[in-house]
Amino acid sequence: MSITAVRGFNDILPGDTEVWRRIEDIAFKIFSAYGFSEIKVPIVEKTELFLRSIGETTDIVEKEMYTFTDRHGDSLTLRPEGTAPVVRAYIEHKLYANPVSKLYYSGPMFRYERPQKGRYRQFYQIGAEILGDLSPRSDAEALTMLMRLFEEIDVRGAELQMNSLGDALCRPVYKQRLKDYLSGVKEKLCENCRRRIEANPLRALDCKNPGCMEATKSAPSILESLCGACKTHFDKVRECLELSGIEASINPRMVRGLDYYTKTTFEITSAGLGSQNAIAAGGRYDGLVEELGGPATPCFGFAIGIERVALLIKENGMERRPLTVFIALGDEAERKGVALLKAWRDRGVRIIEDFSEGSLKSRMKKADRMGARYAVILGDDELKSGTVAIKDMKSASQEKVSWEIAPDRIAIG
Ligand code: ATP
Ligand code: MG
Repeated sequence: MSITAVRGFNDILPGDTEVWRRIEDIAFKIFSAYGFSEIKVPIVEKTELFLRSIGETTDIVEKEMYTFTDRHGDSLTLRPEGTAPVVRAYIEHKLYANPVSKLYYSGPMFRYERPQKGRYRQFYQIGAEILGDLSPRSDAEALTMLMRLFEEIDVRGAELQMNSLGDALCRPVYKQRLKDYLSGVKEKLCENCRRRIEANPLRALDCKNPGCMEATKSAPSILESLCGACKTHFDKVRECLELSGIEASINPRMVRGLDYYTKTTFEITSAGLGSQNAIAAGGRYDGLVEELGGPATPCFGFAIGIERVALLIKENGMERRPLTVFIALGDEAERKGVALLKAWRDRGVRIIEDFSEGSLKSRMKKADRMGARYAVILGDDELKSGTVAIKDMKSASQEKVSWEIAPDRIAIG
């Protein structure tokens, strides 16, 4: 029996990899224009890092982490997200010596979830973090950048939802109000939410169980519990977004699945993905750096799910750069081909040489099967006249072009 990939772990194949490359290229270009630099952090971290950052009563930590003991007996975890590793690196390398650090990353994350469309066990995120900026304008700028990114990669109908989760001052007050409320409707809650009333009551607002949704309908809103500083911050973010022409809807029930968030949180969804419709999410985490042993540092960050974005823009249909196959007939043609192929490649033409033998007819068939848009043929006649024959595989029309202009001919046409 042949061996297959592990469930929830995907191969990303040609056709898709071009879409992924395009998403990353455009993202990196835009991030760079906003002053971000790339950071690469390991895929494996000490388990403790995620326990202390994401929170011990979150879904991720309770049931989704790939945790193992290495040969030395240390507990390690495949990173389920990128923020905690970036913050760990920020502290470890004292990047806080800079007034502000703007960092981005891209790579695989691992969560033991139920695999389905748009939800995998190894999935990829592009993320960005701003460390050391407390201004609400920085939240708005990051969100503006993100919306601009989606526009540029042609994700249609991206919708931004925002909330504020308050801070160390006002969230405990809200938590208590919510606990009191939830205790009153306890019988209607699922087992999970009942258990969470004490540990993590906010998660009850996020539960997809119909009974819980009904029971929490008239739960108190966190926005009514915000302290003055959090309220001012949130209003300012909204005002800045408005100035930039970014529409956002406010969703006071959006609580997010990680404990480190403070103040602004957000999610961007897009129709056309079914129930796994969140394509990016993030928010402010002003307490995390200090929590992990660094100096108090206000931060804002987000992560984009590459698989879901790729699914969306694939549905829009993305043109791949066309492939050209070069067919040399005979030794001398092969030798001439070396210079011609170089000239095409220098111009960015995507061209491969067909090294097979056999009749021209069979080699043309093969080029067609490879999906070639053009075939370039160099035979005896062409060698003599200093030309190549360029065949358009779609229209089946063919033209002879001199060696001088042949490199540009395909680059243009
Ligand atoms: P969801 O509500 O879909 O579970 P999340 O709140 O767990 O998302 P985050 O941890 O904020 O997601 O991650 C940011 C983005 O990463 C998500 O919006 C989504 O696009 C993507 N993502 C998260 N988990 C997965 C997964 N298991 N498979 C594919 N993409 C994922
Ligand atoms: Mg999740």
